[in-house]
Order: sequence, then C-alpha cells, then structure tokens
Amino acid sequence: MTDAPQSTPGLVLGTGERGRTAWSNWSGAVRGIADRLLAPRTADQLRDVVLDATARARGISVVGSGHSYANLVAPTGRTLVDLRHHRGIVAVDPAAMTVTVKAGTTMRELNQELAAAGLALPNQSAIDEQTVAGAVATATHGSSPRHGTLSSHVVSARILTADGQVRTITQDDPELDGVRVHLGCLGVVLDLTFAVVPGHRLRKVVLRRPLTEVLAGLDRFREVHFGGFWWYPHTSQAIVWEAAPTDEPPTPSPGPPGALLSLLCNNSWPPLVAGTAHYAAALAAGRGRAQVMRCDDALLHHLPPPVQGTEYSVPFDRAADAIRALVGEVRRGGPRVCAPVDVRFTAADTAWLSPSRQAITCHIGVTHPVSERDPERWIAPLRAVESVLWEFEGRPHWAKVHSRTGQELAARYPDWSRFQELRKAWDPDGVFLGGHLRELFEH
Ligand SMILES: Cc1cc2nc3c(=O)[nH]c(=O)nc-3n(C[C@H](O)[C@H](O)[C@H](O)COP(=O)(O)OP(=O)(O)OC[C@H]3O[C@@H](n4cnc5c(N)ncnc54)[C@H](O)[C@@H]3O)c2cc1C
Repeated sequence: MTDAPQSTPGLVLGTGERGRTAWSNWSGAVRGIADRLLAPRTADQLRDVVLDATARARGISVVGSGHSYANLVAPTGRTLVDLRHHRGIVAVDPAAMTVTVKAGTTMRELNQELAAAGLALPNQSAIDEQTVAGAVATATHGSSPRHGTLSSHVVSARILTADGQVRTITQDDPELDGVRVHLGCLGVVLDLTFAVVPGHRLRKVVLRRPLTEVLAGLDRFREVHFGGFWWYPHTSQAIVWEAAPTDEPPTPSPGPPGALLSLLCNNSWPPLVAGTAHYAAALAAGRGRAQVMRCDDALLHHLPPPVQGTEYSVPFDRAADAIRALVGEVRRGGPRVCAPVDVRFTAADTAWLSPSRQAITCHIGVTHPVSERDPERWIAPLRAVESVLWEFEGRPHWAKVHSRTGQELAARYPDWSRFQELRKAWDPDGVFLGGHLRELFEH
C-alpha cells in the first residue's frame, strides 16, 4: 500500500528533493514543502491515496486552483492531491434543471458547458478560475440579494471519506447543509450537482456616486438582481454597479482594465497620491455606459494582481454603519488601505458554516499588496480592518485572511458543533485537517 501511489504511472505530479515538492497559493503568500503532490487519474487511484494517508495517519489535502488567501491547503509535510484529471460534466438534467460536474472542473469550464446547453448557474463569483469543489468549500459568493452562495445551489454531492467510502449526500440528507461549506476537511469531494437556471443575458450599468449617498440609500441593494459597489479609498467616491436580466443584444466586450487595475490594487502610496489616483480612476470607471453580456461574463470582475485579502460578511441591517466605521478608521490613519474596498450582497442560506446563514449579508472586502520580505506590511492593515468589522457581527470569509479563533467563530455559528460531529464521524483521525483548520477545529 505504502508505495502504490508513487509507483503508479502518471500519478506523481511534482516531486522535489527526496520526493518533496513546493506548493504555493495564487498570491504566493501561502507556501510550503509538501511530502508529495499527486494527480490520481482514476477513482481507484484516488481511493488508494486516501486509504494510504489514513493508514499512516498522514495529513492529506486536496488542492483546487489555489485561489484561497487563507492557509486552508496547509501544504507543509502533507500529501497534496490535485484533481486535474477529474474534470468535466457528468450529466445535465434539463427536467430537474441540474448539472452534475466533476470536482476538479473550473468554474470557467462549467460556465462554458452550461452556456452551450442554454443554461447557467443562478449566481457567479468575481472570478472563474476556481475549481467547483474549491469554490463550494469556502462558501464562494457573488453579489445578489436574491441568490445565495455557490454552495447554496448544490443539490447533491459525492464525497470520498477517510475510510475509503464514497458517500452520496442529497437534499433528503440533513448532512447536505454540512457538506455545502466543507472547507476541505470532510474528505475528497468527487462531484457536485448544482441547480441551474435558463441561460440569459444581463444588462450592467456602472456609475460613480458619492459614498455618503450610496450608504444613505443602501436599502436599494435589497431589491436589485445583482449589484454592489467599490469605495475608492482616500476619496469620497463610490463606483456602483447593477445588473439585471435583459433581452437586448450583447454589446462589444469592454476589454480588461489591465495596467490601471494592477496599479490601483498594488499601490502603497501615501494617502494624498493614492487619493488623486483613485479619484481619477473613479472618474474613468463611472461613465455609466451600459453593457449587455452573457450572465456569467457580466458578473466577472477582472483578476487583480496577486494580493492578500480579508473579507467580513455582516448582516445587511448593520452594513451601512460597518462601512462608515471602516471608512472613519481609514481616514483617521488606522488601517492603510490601498485598493478599492469591495462591497457585495448575498441572500440568506441554510449551510451550517455559511457566513450568509439565515440572513441577507453584506460582504466587505479589502485587499493589500503582498510583501514577501515583510509580511507584516499586509498582515497589520488587514488585522486592523478585521477588528472594525468583527464588531458588526461580522463573519470572516473562510478563504480569506483572518485571525479569529475556533472559539470565537463557534459563537457566531449556531451549527458549529453539528459540523464538528460530522467532521469527526467522517474523519476521526483528522487526516484532512491542515494546520489552519486544525487550529480552528481543535480548540
Ligand atoms: C482574485 C480572487 C477573486 C475572488 N473572488 C471571490 C468572490 O467573488 N467571491 C468569493 O466568495 N470568493 C472569492 N474568492 C475566493 C475563492 O473563491 C476561494 O478561495 C475558493 O475557495 C478558491 O477555490 P480553489 O479551487 O482555488 O480552491 P483552493 O483555494 O485550492 O482550496 C480551497 C479549499 O477547498 C478544498 N478543496 C478543493 N477541492 C477539493 C475537493 N475536491 N475535495 C475536498 N476539498 C477540496 C481545499 O483543500 C481547500 O480547503 C476570490 C479569490 C481570488 C484570489
């Protein structure tokens, strides 16, 4: 058993000295030397890898596209499993309006396949680089008070647990609300079935507005189909976007903002310089021209340069005050915020570990350039942001940087202990618990 995974042709994806291999996330801020990085080709190979890790009580993590800022994968000293050979659509059911897709499929691949079939996911996050299982793991959300997170659209899941069993969890099983936001610590998700909607186009409008006006009228975001805004730090300006279904024909693609976005997200300028640049960018961004696009494309934002970020979800009713408090702190010279602050909304859902559980939430996200030489340069401002948003009943995004303990989070999640029971039942030795998750769940 011990040597089987390494000796299987095509299985070992990356090995360095003495069989170990370096892994880092998208931003480069999470890195480590894994014991081995494997890419099983078949379900049997995957099962052997899991059973081997369980038998030896060795840590194992599945890697998605590595787009989490938090150290969920925890590479150091663990077996990493890459599901690049487990991609593609398993089945589309037009009568049930569902699609079943293999776990390693990227959101982009899924969206393209759905569009070709005249279908779409009800909601979409800001990027489509993630794998479907990775996105669902962390309650990835879009921006709509009418639609929940991607996890909330899951109607069934197949998961390979530490004992080598494949469990199928459907809407009839109470565990589905546990599996929806699985954090990678329940086992290897093999495939997921999502509810889908008919494909459609969205008409998107982007406008510049004074931040005070946007916050005074925040309630209108309860009614939009899709929408959100960015506050441009060191200015009084917000860029507001809204999108709604339309039958209008598509407009030409606006093209990526490229260099400008990189500059805005990666700046560490003094407030006056940043404010001037951000004001100019807000003028340019908020010209108000409407664009009509395929629904998934309309909801994508442009991939920023590598940054680290934190994000808190606060109940909608507390959102305006939370944002005012954050803006006040930044203006007082507290957290040094360089990039536009992202504000979005999500409908309430039922997943045990969803930050949007049982309440429409407002997500407030802040990013900061990564500094390899001096991590404190990005950690300190993100911590300062956290301490403001925590006071407004905030729940941190699982995939983003946060400093909350398991005890603190347990108090904000009424079903924390149910998730713990499920996790312990399916993975009694905690082989799927990487460092960060171990800190959270073994408090
Ligand atoms: C530029 C950028 C934009 C983003 N935009 C948004 C956004 O709009 N909304 C939002 O909510 N989030 C957003 N995120 C966060 C992102 O959606 C999450 O980090 C997501 O979890 C990344 O998916 P991944 O495939 O990269 O997974 P990874 O980061 O590689 O892994 C995430 C977790 O999933 C686990 N995992 C992955 N595959 C499996 C599997 N098959 N079985 C079991 N466990 C598995 C991993 O072990 C890990 O615990 C963004 C991130 C970036 C970098």
